[in-house]
Amino acid sequence: MDSDRPAAGTATPGAADMGKLLQQYGCGPIRFTGSGDALYERHLMFDNVADRAAVGPRERYEAVARSVRDVLSQRWVRTEQTYERENPKRVYYLSMEFLIGRSLANNVLNLLLDPVVERAAVGKGLDWLAVLEQEPDAGLGNGGLGRLAACFIDSMATMELPAMGYGLRYEYGIFKQTIRDGWQHERPDNWLRRPDPWEIARPDEMVEVRLGCSFEVRGGTLGVVVGRPSSLLGVPYDRPVVGYGGKTVNTLRLWVAAAPDDFDFQAFSAGEFVSALAERLTAESLTRVLYPDDSTSMGQGLRFVQEYFLVACSLADLVRRFRRRNSGRGDPDWSALPAKAAIQLNDTHPGLAVPELMRILLDDVRLDWDQAWDLTRRTLAYTNHTLLPEALEKWPLPWLALLLPRHLEIILEINRRFLDEVRARFPDDGGRIGRVSLIEEGAERRIRMANLAIVGSHSTNGVAAIHSHLLRTVTVKDLAEMFPERFSNKTNGVTPRRWLLLANPPLARGITGAIGDGWITDLAELEKLKPLADDRGFRDTIIRAKREAKSRFADWLRSASGIVVDPDTIFDSQVKRIHEYKRQLLNALRVVVLYNRLRENPDMEMAPRTFFFSGKAAPAYHLAKTIIKFLNNLAGTIDGDPAVRGRLKVVFLPEYCVSLAERLIPATDVSNQISTAGYEASGTSNMKFMMNGALTIGTRDGATIEMAEAAGEENFFMFGLTAEQVAGSRSWYDPRWHYDNEPETRAALDLIFSEHFSRYEPGVFDPLRQTLLTGGDHYMHLADLTAYLEADRRLLELYADPAGWARKVVLNLAGSGKFSSDRTIAEYAAEIWDVKPCPVP
Ligand SMILES: *Cc1c(COP(=O)(O)O)cnc(C)c1O
Repeated sequence: MDSDRPAAGTATPGAADMGKLLQQYGCGPIRFTGSGDALYERHLMFDNVADRAAVGPRERYEAVARSVRDVLSQRWVRTEQTYERENPKRVYYLSMEFLIGRSLANNVLNLLLDPVVERAAVGKGLDWLAVLEQEPDAGLGNGGLGRLAACFIDSMATMELPAMGYGLRYEYGIFKQTIRDGWQHERPDNWLRRPDPWEIARPDEMVEVRLGCSFEVRGGTLGVVVGRPSSLLGVPYDRPVVGYGGKTVNTLRLWVAAAPDDFDFQAFSAGEFVSALAERLTAESLTRVLYPDDSTSMGQGLRFVQEYFLVACSLADLVRRFRRRNSGRGDPDWSALPAKAAIQLNDTHPGLAVPELMRILLDDVRLDWDQAWDLTRRTLAYTNHTLLPEALEKWPLPWLALLLPRHLEIILEINRRFLDEVRARFPDDGGRIGRVSLIEEGAERRIRMANLAIVGSHSTNGVAAIHSHLLRTVTVKDLAEMFPERFSNKTNGVTPRRWLLLANPPLARGITGAIGDGWITDLAELEKLKPLADDRGFRDTIIRAKREAKSRFADWLRSASGIVVDPDTIFDSQVKRIHEYKRQLLNALRVVVLYNRLRENPDMEMAPRTFFFSGKAAPAYHLAKTIIKFLNNLAGTIDGDPAVRGRLKVVFLPEYCVSLAERLIPATDVSNQISTAGYEASGTSNMKFMMNGALTIGTRDGATIEMAEAAGEENFFMFGLTAEQVAGSRSWYDPRWHYDNEPETRAALDLIFSEHFSRYEPGVFDPLRQTLLTGGDHYMHLADLTAYLEADRRLLELYADPAGWARKVVLNLAGSGKFSSDRTIAEYAAEIWDVKPCPVP
């Protein structure tokens, strides 16, 4: 498709094409006076009511973004009209996180307007890159889970699927990370300080959410008023989701909490002015901030209400839509609900959708239990994202009793019926009841959200083959035995539009030059590059593209931060949330070993290397913050050591976010994916690196296993224990053995604990010794260090043979087609949702 689209960054169409392009989106010369230029001028002038000469770069960004929004708005309206008319089955993707990053360049690209806009920018003397820099990242997520949701809505729009994302419009996204003296500090991310040109508030489509209690200020503190129901309002803010080619423009609908206007007037007139207003403040605080915990459930009350709020608003909205579209004269035929709506739960965060949909069908629609249960299960589907026990959500029963008493009643009834069934099927297996129950017994009874989601839906999927396997055979084994047909795997993917076409123009150009641009919407076409692994000309193209991306990154880094890196060194990256299981510490130990080798033997030959680390730690995760401190001290010490200057450099890049990933990943030669086997559900940055021409050094974990299969194991640098070995050696893993018997391991640890990296801060890294050496290390860092070094040695050996290196890069690129989120979404659509494309004419 779209064969008339020029490859990224190539020559632009003539000026006359501007009007044609705009017309294609329904706003050509007739509607607006001539061109996008005019749109831009109008916005610049009228939106700000300011002298054109006086506006700053931010105003220019807003004017450009609003012009692009004008261009897409008719398509956006027409998309919704088409869905209203055709009434197809729709997908509703419920997620507490959408880590979308910036929108301007992505929307311009997906509308195929990039040549036009870039040329217009040149004509106006606009610095296009500076304009793009004005847009803050929409950081409405923590990491992989939120970024997956963003890639999925891109794919669904590109594939013309009638789909909608539902989430929360946090006023503060993931915190801003700064580094002071090596330590992480957090600052609020007030990303909405300036008006966001992409969002449209829709107060007319407000919904009401009822809670079983109220909140009140007494003596200066906020308390809960038991038994006095209250309500909140949910106001939708819509953002366009432009499919590639601009044919379909779907909607991401984010909810904001507001207080009803008729707040307690009685209290107000009785003189309790502050407490009457405090209730309002409570309501509006609900969507103020994203919880910054990745792979951990902090079990906080406000988070619980946030999750319910997302569910209640989204279900009210979609049920309202179902009623409107499916009621001829009388009531709708509710048995058609699963034929019209597929609701996907991104982890258990929106898991209260199970009792909420039951409540609607039982209490509002007045169906009987069996029919309500059948419809609920057939409409909902659940994606599991992690096997980490600390990430599994379990909400205290008393909270539901207070806030959602009716939902608690429904959950208990679901559980009663379910456990009856279990007893009937497994009469001699008393232990099973305790394991599968939706309630965890104990001093405080808690709802097991994963069990609720599995029992209350028709589909449970994991996000990579190994993850789905472990889910089925270990984590929820008993439930999988009862409902084997509900379990499946859907290996994650990422959108090649943002992560290749947009992020890496030189490489995208090289690929298109060789095989045409079909890969943009059918990434499996990269397979055609396979024979070119032996084509010297193509290998050179790829290597030149990499070199260009590295220079671009080095230039940006110098101008943005003053840090100087040499693009002729190997760029070796590990960028992701900082977590023990992801093992940034293992990577750091590798660097310390290499550093020791150079100190011992200054004349040894070693290709010069630059190691990049980037990632945020949850603010309450002290060990992760100490790891960041260590990485920064490592960087500082190595920088200050003349013995290794020009040969080894470590850079910790603060404020990891989508925009930084888009810059660094194309410039990377070596991707580190080194989690303890069995712990990384899928990973998605692994895929981004693979399709950007990096080679992977990694463990047999998550989707990295499937990546190695696709590229050929011989083109990968796999090392370390398998998930089975990890599970089996837990009981006898002895870090001391590695210290006592592996000289390089010992020397690295000794150097760290001699305070070599903490001369003025003695003891600061004691917590690292505690985890690494004293048995408490669940993630078995030392068990994999020598294997890592061995894989690293093989990698350097290959690097010394540029043609051999380039060949493997091409074979990796050629094998990366499977990891498009288009492929993932095609599987969800066919095997879970049963939805079909609904093209917009
Ligand atoms: C892709 C991405 C992630 C996920 O990275 P993993 O290495 O898979 O954990 C996290 N954060 C950002 C900003 C990303 O773009």
